[in-house]
Amino acid sequence: MSELVIKDLTVAVSADGTEILKGVDLTVRSGETHAIMGPNGSGKSTLAYSIAGHPKYTVTGGSVTLDGDDVLAMTVDERARAGLFLAMQYPVEVPGVSVSNFLRTAATATRGEAPKLRTWVKEVSATMGALEMDKAFADRSVNEGFSGGEKKRHEILQMELLKPKVAILDETDSGLDVDALRVVSEGVNRVRDTGIGTLLITHYTRILRYIAPDFVHVFFDGRIVESGGPELADRLENEGYHRFGVNETASA
Ligand code: ADP
Ligand code: MG
Ligand code: MG
Repeated sequence: MSELVIKDLTVAVSADGTEILKGVDLTVRSGETHAIMGPNGSGKSTLAYSIAGHPKYTVTGGSVTLDGDDVLAMTVDERARAGLFLAMQYPVEVPGVSVSNFLRTAATATRGEAPKLRTWVKEVSATMGALEMDKAFADRSVNEGFSGGEKKRHEILQMELLKPKVAILDETDSGLDVDALRVVSEGVNRVRDTGIGTLLITHYTRILRYIAPDFVHVFFDGRIVESGGPELADRLENEGYHRFGVNETASA
C-alpha cells in the first residue's frame, strides 16, 4: 500500500515568481485512479511538473510525500527510484539510443539492478504486443520521429515495465485517434489492476469513457475547487466549466 500525499502545495514560476499553484491538497493511494480535470491554463501541467521536480517551477509552500518520504527533497532520479512515474519525464528525443536500450537502462535505474535478460526480453515483447506496437519499434531511437500515438504508447510501455507506485499522466489522451486511445487506456487499466495509483490529468472527458476514475477533481485557478466520483466527469461533459466562470466545454 502506497500513498502520495500533496498538502497545501503552492508553486511559482522560477523566472518571475508568478504564483500558479495556490494550495493543492490531494492524496492518491495504491489502486486508485484520480482524474484531474480543468480548463486550459488552470495549472494542471504545473502540478505535474512540480511533482516531477522541473527547475522551471519553485515550490513556495506545502509538501509532497510518498509513503512519508519528502519527494520535494529528492532529485529527479531519486523520485523515479522512489516509485514515482511522470509521463513527461522523458519527452526528449534521444538519437542513437534505441527504445529497448533506453527501457532496460531505465528499469535498471529504478529497480537498482539490471533485469534478467531472458525474462526482460519476454516482458518487453509481451507488453509491446498488448500495446499493439510493432516489434521493430524497439530498435528505433527514443522519440525520434515518433508520431503522437507512438509517443503515448511508448510512455505507457515505460510505465508498464517500470512498475511505479504512483503514475502521473499529463494529457495522455491529447492528439490520439480512437484506436490509440483505446490501446493506451487499456494499458493504464492494466497497471491500475496491478495496484498502481494513477493521477490522470486531462482537459477532456473523452479518455474517461475508457478509464473509469474512482475520483474526479476539478482544477481551477491553481487549486482543486471540487471533488467527486465519476458522475462529476459526466456533469463536466454536459456543462463544461461554465459554473467555474469559464466559457468552454470539457468534452470535444
Ligand atoms: P494547464 O496545464 O492547466 O493548461 P499550465 O500549468 O500549463 O496549465 O499553466 C498554468 C498557468 O501558468 C498558465 O497561465 C501559464 O501561462 C502559466 N505558466 C506555466 N508555466 C509557465 C512558465 N514557465 N512561465 C510563465 N508562465 C507559466
Ligand atoms: Mg494547457
Ligand atoms: Mg497542461
